[in-house]
Amino acid sequence: MSDSNDTPRERKPLGLKRSVDGGEVKQTFSHGRTNKVVVEVKQRRVLRKPGEAAAPPPPPPPPPPPPPPPPPAATPAPAAKKKPSPAGETPQERVARLQREAEEARLATLAQQTEREAAERAAAIEAEQRAREANREAEEAAAKKAAEDAKAPPATEAPAEPAATAEAPASALAADGAAGGESAPAPRRFTPVARPEPKRPEVKKKDDKRGAPADTADRGGDKRRSGKLTVTKALNEDEGRRARSLAALKRAREKERRLHGGPAQKREKQVRDVVVPEAITVQELANRMAEKGADLVKALFNMGMMVTVNQTIDQDTAELLVEEFGHNIERVSESDVDIVSAEDQDPEETLKARPPVVTIMGHVDHGKTSLLDALRGTDVVRGEAGGITQHIGAYQIQTKGGDKVTFLDTPGHAAFTEMRARGANVTDIVILVVAGDDGIMPQTIEAINHTKAAGVPMIVAITKADREEYNPQKIRERLLEHEVIVEAMSGDVQDVEVSAKTKAGLDELVEKILLQAELLELKARPDRDAEATVVEAQLDKGRGPVATVLVTRGTLKRGDTFVVGTQSGRVRALVDDKGKQVKEAGPSFPVEVLGLGGVPMAGDQLTVVENEQRAREVASYRQEKATEKRTALAPTNFDTMFAGLQSNVVEFPVLVKADVQGSVEAIVSALHNLSNDDIKVRVLHAGVGAITESDVQLAAASKAPIIGFNVRPNPKARDLVKRDNVEMKYFDVIYHLTEEISKEMIGELGPLKVENVMGRAQVKEVFKSGKRDKAAGLLVEEGVIRKGLHARLTRDDVIVSATTIASLRRFKDDVDEVRAGLECGVVLADTNDIRAGDQLEVFEVEERERTL
Ligand code: GDP
Repeated sequence: MSDSNDTPRERKPLGLKRSVDGGEVKQTFSHGRTNKVVVEVKQRRVLRKPGEAAAPPPPPPPPPPPPPPPPPAATPAPAAKKKPSPAGETPQERVARLQREAEEARLATLAQQTEREAAERAAAIEAEQRAREANREAEEAAAKKAAEDAKAPPATEAPAEPAATAEAPASALAADGAAGGESAPAPRRFTPVARPEPKRPEVKKKDDKRGAPADTADRGGDKRRSGKLTVTKALNEDEGRRARSLAALKRAREKERRLHGGPAQKREKQVRDVVVPEAITVQELANRMAEKGADLVKALFNMGMMVTVNQTIDQDTAELLVEEFGHNIERVSESDVDIVSAEDQDPEETLKARPPVVTIMGHVDHGKTSLLDALRGTDVVRGEAGGITQHIGAYQIQTKGGDKVTFLDTPGHAAFTEMRARGANVTDIVILVVAGDDGIMPQTIEAINHTKAAGVPMIVAITKADREEYNPQKIRERLLEHEVIVEAMSGDVQDVEVSAKTKAGLDELVEKILLQAELLELKARPDRDAEATVVEAQLDKGRGPVATVLVTRGTLKRGDTFVVGTQSGRVRALVDDKGKQVKEAGPSFPVEVLGLGGVPMAGDQLTVVENEQRAREVASYRQEKATEKRTALAPTNFDTMFAGLQSNVVEFPVLVKADVQGSVEAIVSALHNLSNDDIKVRVLHAGVGAITESDVQLAAASKAPIIGFNVRPNPKARDLVKRDNVEMKYFDVIYHLTEEISKEMIGELGPLKVENVMGRAQVKEVFKSGKRDKAAGLLVEEGVIRKGLHARLTRDDVIVSATTIASLRRFKDDVDEVRAGLECGVVLADTNDIRAGDQLEVFEVEERERTL
């Protein structure tokens, strides 16, 4: 019964098993005893399947096996049914069966896993192949898309329908795997495909199907995937390539440049026209050629010249270099660099009348400053606008008739001469101021001479007309002595009687200036780049270097680029004599210029140039020239220095500080004029501005006085002056200054000592006088020898001793003097070095007051 019972019951499971493995299983069960054996056989089979996975047909059957597990899985229930019968028979059998079933389930899972892995691998291989294909056939991307699309559906469908395992066994495997764990194969398959455009839609499809899980699987499966490098690697490499692309590109370029650097440079090289002056530094030439200085030095070295970049080479050497580097040389001579305004003449038709420029000269205290102030007061514009007077070194007035006159308000001939010495003949008319109550004085005469030398017409202003002692006629007559014939004396020099105090005669003076200007036909072209002359220059604390210029031609405008002396600059602002900013300044207009690179010198020419480069070029050229000049002068300076030492010239050191550059120059020049063969003024330092600490220190160290002209020491300097006891001299009139300094210099020298030789004698014999002294027996050959006179004993024309005649005897009698032709005996003070044959010269020293 049990058998019959068992059999039907067993049949079912057997049937099920049969569905998997066939009848063999049933048989084993029916026999019962042989059960184990049969099962073992089954196990072996199962194991073989995965191991032999290569065989495609068998796999399809395996999927069915999973169904069988359900029965066994469901077995718990059926098993429970089974249990009783077999259990009833043999409990051992039952245990064994259960074990067997569990083992079967485990093996089945194992088999599934191995299959999945195999499928994954296959999928990876497939994906890799696809990736490679994608890379190779980038151009056929579209075609690939289609192909991949074709492949993709099976992949997606595979999990759902194992039957769809269409094209390749690999894909079949992959499909199988997908059934168990799609996550892994799916992303792999898509990711590589996802790179190229076509694959993206697929990814979307997948995402649609599996959504987040697929992504998470991607992330979570990193470890596993890391083992299966092929796809991810490909991916990462791709990504890496993109991320590094910029840096890689740069490196690649650099490498290329390095490799082909030489040729590349040569290819880029430009041929330049290099402007080369008569002498140029290697560095400057390098700059102009746009080459490296070191390369030029190297090239010169190869030519056998050892030079540094800072050394100057001549034009011929420069030419060799320029040609060596493949450029073209453009030789220029020195004059090409500098601006020569004389060559640039304006056509007659462009010229327009310009106001005259007037300078006032005359003796000190004759009323120059007062007259300038009075004339300034006649300015109608100033009267109307009420502008504040600014001392800028020059000013312009407008007469009632609308005419304009420009006055240089640095009175005196020193400034005039300095300007002229620099070739700056800005003055059109000179007003010679002579005080009607005084007379022709030394400086009046100097002024006359300077004016005549400059060939500038003169107007005599006989000032102080309000004074009681005023006698203009006397002045006119006295002027005749100096060949100044005024109109009243039937000459051609205009004269005016004026009073700065009462303003009498001022209008007449202005009229005469205008008349004179008319005669001169003063003209200049206004519509061109400006040229101007520096009247004064100083370093302003707040505004930097400032120069007052007088426009000689053209119109100076704000923003103009210019070169002035050795400086270049750009007009930042223009300020007139009323302190007002102006936009432009025409001919004869005095104006303060701001925007200079440095402080120029009075008399320097300002020239507007086309651009900054030109301005710098000219300025640096002029600087070079100035340096050359200084260097060239140096030996001369040494010569004079040694000459000075030899002739025992006394030096009178001074420091000069003044309010404006013009005054500094005038003072320095006046001081130099005080020098003579015996004493020389040595200006240790001269500058514009307040007396500073360093000035005082220098003065203290050199024991020199400081001359302050219209300037005072700053507080710190004042303390130092007290501490170091430095002599300070303040002046506001140059004439007073020179007078004072010349007196000072005389004191420095002491009284003049003059030697008058009285007589000469020859030593005939030497004998003892007293215990120690020696006496000399002399024959007076010339003049007279007197007791107490200075005496010089010479032997072979070399001075042996300088002494005095201590005693003089004739025939044992003391005498006061012995005349020529007579013999005598003398004792010389402080010397016993006397020999027969020596010569004695006696002289007296006369002290005279020195005059300079
Ligand atoms: P500068 O040294 O030539 O500049 O002469 P100043 O202008 O300083 O004048 C010297 C002195 O003369 C001052 O005291 C002035 O007041 C005086 N002075 C100048 N002009 C006149 C004038 O026309 N009449 C009178 N009475 N005094 C004058």
